[in-house]
Amino acid sequence: MPSAISTDVLIVGAGVAGLWLNARLRRQGFSTVLVESSALGGGQSLKSQGIIHGGAKYALHGALSGASEAIADMPRRWREALSGKGELDLTGVRLLSEAHYLWSPGTLAGNLTSFFASKAVRGRVDQVKGADLPPALQDPKFKGKVYRLAELVIDVPSLIARLAELAGDSLLAGQNIEPLHDGDQLIGLCIDGRNIIAQRVVLSAGAGNAQLLKTLGVSQPTMQRRPLHMVLAKGPTLKPLYAHCLGGGPKPRLTVTTHPAADGQWVWYVGGDVAEADGVAREPAAQIAAVKKELGTLLPWIDLSQVQWATLRVDRAEPAQSGLTRPDNAFLNVQGRLMTGWPTKLALAPDFADRVLAALSHDEIHPTPQPPLAGMPRPPLAVPVWDQLLP
Ligand code: FAD
Repeated sequence: MPSAISTDVLIVGAGVAGLWLNARLRRQGFSTVLVESSALGGGQSLKSQGIIHGGAKYALHGALSGASEAIADMPRRWREALSGKGELDLTGVRLLSEAHYLWSPGTLAGNLTSFFASKAVRGRVDQVKGADLPPALQDPKFKGKVYRLAELVIDVPSLIARLAELAGDSLLAGQNIEPLHDGDQLIGLCIDGRNIIAQRVVLSAGAGNAQLLKTLGVSQPTMQRRPLHMVLAKGPTLKPLYAHCLGGGPKPRLTVTTHPAADGQWVWYVGGDVAEADGVAREPAAQIAAVKKELGTLLPWIDLSQVQWATLRVDRAEPAQSGLTRPDNAFLNVQGRLMTGWPTKLALAPDFADRVLAALSHDEIHPTPQPPLAGMPRPPLAVPVWDQLLP
């Protein structure tokens, strides 16, 4: 039987939330173990578009409230980390685009007055033209308006790889998780037969949190899933594009990000309204046809004849919401020694870590040194979806 381990914080789930939190805790001297049942980042994180939102998308439909502006500060915090001067040293993580753009085909759709007046975007949106347009929109036939948002787009595979480096020897591959109790009190977890005693246990397993809570016999918090049907396109004629395309409604009609495939070609990853309800109801072939039609209408100068297509069904896992979701904060529930949460956005991983650190400080949990952890099976890095689906 593997030997027992004592640690300050045992984290379950190595997506961006668990990995970021783990790196922050280790930097502050806490001892940690981070358990992953599959591959690092292979849940939602490596399926995300990598946009470090500052809230502009939510300001479009007025969902960004003045009281919860954690998200507005995220681009700054990520930029500092990427430059090596922030709360984590993320030098080496690839920045795909210095900015995300808002693109309005033809005349401005809808009433954007309140959007431009909103605190989340005020003073941080500039119109761009000509050579400053995103490469895919630089065509004489392009007639729309484009605004540069103060948001960035990162390459998530290189982020996950860097956070795995910062995890040092704390990573543990493990599938079978059972609670360890002392009387009524949760004192740790038994993972594949190895007892891990911890001062605090954090569940950051994304969609896996619901099953973990059940295993631990805990009924709160409850989780919701919101499905998406994303479209991927890979081809030699695609140029970089990072933009929300406005439609008539409150949500972007399309959100396109561009990612480097292993063979050097660009992959367009398409979400937004087209990937939501109607898109979820469509079969993959019909979903590809719908996105092809949208791209053909919006960007008729782009030759799509050599493009390979795929779709991806994936759920966003979040705390259950009674009304409108509040996408501008991470969520953390604390019950005794157990903390459970969802960042609700990749961009909000720093906010998720802040909340755990605040709870540790509140409970006066201080860092204790841990001897090196040797001989723990290490989970692998997940493969990016575009390389899985469009090899
Ligand atoms: P996950 O990344 O899902 O990680 C959870 C991990 O826990 C997984 O590795 C899983 O294998 C592991 N796990 C599960 N069960 C267990 C268990 N029992 N034991 C051990 N490990 C377990 N956000 C943005 O900010 N910007 C974007 O551009 C963006 N685009 C998105 C696009 C899509 C298509 C989707 C689906 C989401 C997007 N998001 C975006 C949201 C973002 O991806 C998520 O909020 C974020 O990645 C969630 O991170 P996480 O670490 O909580 O979960």
